[in-house]
Amino acid sequence: MENAVLITIGDEILSGNTIDTNSNFIATELKNIGIKVSQIFTISDEIETIKKTLQTAFEMGDLIITTGGLGPTRDDKTKKALAEFFNDEIALDEATFEHLRNYMEKRGRSEILERNREQAFVPTKSIVFQNQYGTAPCMMMRYNDKLSFSLPGVPYEVKPLIKDQIVPYLKDTFSLHYITTRIVSVVGIAESILADIIEDWELSLPENLALSYLPVGTRVKLRLTASGDDESILNQQLEEEIQKLFPLIGDSIIATTEDKIEKILGELLNEKKLTLSTAESCTGGELAKMITSNSGSSNYFIGGIVPYATEKKVKILQVAQETVNEFTVVSERVAQEMARGCQQLFGTHISISTTGVAGPGKGEDGKEVGTVYYSIRINDREESFKLYMPHLDRLDFMNFVSQKIIQDLVGLLIND
Ligand code: ATP
Ligand code: MG
Repeated sequence: MENAVLITIGDEILSGNTIDTNSNFIATELKNIGIKVSQIFTISDEIETIKKTLQTAFEMGDLIITTGGLGPTRDDKTKKALAEFFNDEIALDEATFEHLRNYMEKRGRSEILERNREQAFVPTKSIVFQNQYGTAPCMMMRYNDKLSFSLPGVPYEVKPLIKDQIVPYLKDTFSLHYITTRIVSVVGIAESILADIIEDWELSLPENLALSYLPVGTRVKLRLTASGDDESILNQQLEEEIQKLFPLIGDSIIATTEDKIEKILGELLNEKKLTLSTAESCTGGELAKMITSNSGSSNYFIGGIVPYATEKKVKILQVAQETVNEFTVVSERVAQEMARGCQQLFGTHISISTTGVAGPGKGEDGKEVGTVYYSIRINDREESFKLYMPHLDRLDFMNFVSQKIIQDLVGLLIND
């Protein structure tokens, strides 16, 4: 079991209405047990197309996973295509029907609709993995020594089916290697320079370890992947290799266990017992959203405001009107005064402010699109930054800036 092919079925993905997040999730989970996805197909919900793609997929890989096109809606043709492809019949599966009845009863819908009863019909040669979070069962079929799994399309049904049932099944059945990864987050060094600095270290890595670079914003995540039979040995190996990085780039490493920057920040703030608040203009709340997406953020995040109109920056944050007149609202000085006002308003140790032009139109005083000033205050210390990112669209801009700010704050706290 080495190569997998994923097939995403559904016109809503082809039309661009839905982003295919299932493939991304499945590929990641398979990678963790050493199965490589060699190809991903996105196809329409048509019997002939599905059959043809299954044929191609089985020629390319040992494991096929399809998602989508299994629901009670009329347009779902995957099951019919499966039956035809495998020369099989579709018949009522008692265990699946029982599961479905329980599922409906628990949700107070015991009168099983004819439509839902149809969902307990599966190809007779299939092995069913029951869906705990939906009505469409997952079906496994054998094809010579190869396997296919057909899952519904809804991501919150796909995730537990893959994680709790299919991955454990594959691991047990094919006694797969363990794959463990660690991520080292590095800030303040460009990827190419970093690669130079750690080249010798990389070349001396044991054979069962692999390194990849994942740039996120201005941070670089180094992902170390180890494979082998003994999980604890792998973890030990990873730890040893990571320790060897510290003499080389120790000052730039912000984390070696977590890869989400908001989580890294949370741990630091908890450890240092510091509180945080935000005053955001051009990021429109994205920064606060990112900070609060970490569970437990209520320990340190006290509040945030979005004083979008200049008048509100003056009124709520005590930014001086003269400062605005003299430097314009998108300026380092205004960012500083916003951060100062925010720190006072919320009574926090740390405050962050943003003011800029997210675009696509020009800012009110003609400031270039993509310009942002932000200020970070840590107690009495004040650090201001400017970014110019004209190539990003509005949402990417907000997201990039917020990521960058959290990285900078983490950097400041670590070297404190
Ligand atoms: P349902 O019971 O909802 O009909 P289904 O198995 O028929 O399930 P689809 O109809 O193909 O699945 O998709 C259901 C919903 O799941 C879609 O409307 C879409 O929002 C989401 N979805 C489907 N495929 C994907 C995918 N590859 N990535 C992310 N979301 C998806
Ligand atoms: Mg459907």
